Amino acid sequence: MGLADLHIHSTFSDGVATVEAILYHASAHTDLDVVAITDHNTLAGALLALELAGDFRVRVIPGMEVTTTEGDLLALYITEPVAAGMTFVDTARRVREIGGLPIAPHPLDILARGVGARRLRRIQNEHPGLIAGIEVINGSLLTPVGNRRAENLRWELGLPGVGGSDAHMLEDVGVARTVFPGRTADDLRAALENGEVSPAAKKRDSDYYRRSAMRFALRMGLGFAHALENRAGEERIRMRRVP
Ligand SMILES: [Zn+2]
Repeated sequence: MGLADLHIHSTFSDGVATVEAILYHASAHTDLDVVAITDHNTLAGALLALELAGDFRVRVIPGMEVTTTEGDLLALYITEPVAAGMTFVDTARRVREIGGLPIAPHPLDILARGVGARRLRRIQNEHPGLIAGIEVINGSLLTPVGNRRAENLRWELGLPGVGGSDAHMLEDVGVARTVFPGRTADDLRAALENGEVSPAAKKRDSDYYRRSAMRFALRMGLGFAHALENRAGEERIRMRRVP
């Protein structure tokens, strides 16, 4: 079986790791086979990742996280950008037109950037086959409640469930993953289309809560997060200086 992280942010949007660092880290320090670079409203990071992919072990899926008027949409397997600001359905249609797979990320996100259960039920009812899957394990949620509800919704709607870290920092890459038969990006696409994927979470280490607070800070604005990180760094330096 292969392992993929379908939701990673780089410095091309609000992530703090470069595309090169993500590919190196995923190749050298994780068991992932495939990663998707999915920056907010830009495909530039994903295209760079595709260019660099030959130098690394992990395979790359180009993608982006598009801001729609009804929450975020994860567009995978696209090689041209999709415009922000359209409805969820129009965005998903556009993604299909250019050969991509539209996924609903963190649909029940407590910070309200998900499309929401009611809308997703309506979309699945009125446009069956449009949505390729639901992210049921999102690595960045502060509580497991949103993930649990998303898992229930996926069974109700009969949609494939995937896992993505939503990593904004290197150490989070791979904390949530998608298991699929095969190893390559093409194998994963076939598995998504045949509903042969399953979500999985990696066990949290003891440092999880500090990082979780950092992630929250990141989503609230980079400046505050950097301040937190720098203060932690200064404290470490200070501690080292104690004779
Ligand atoms: Zn995201």
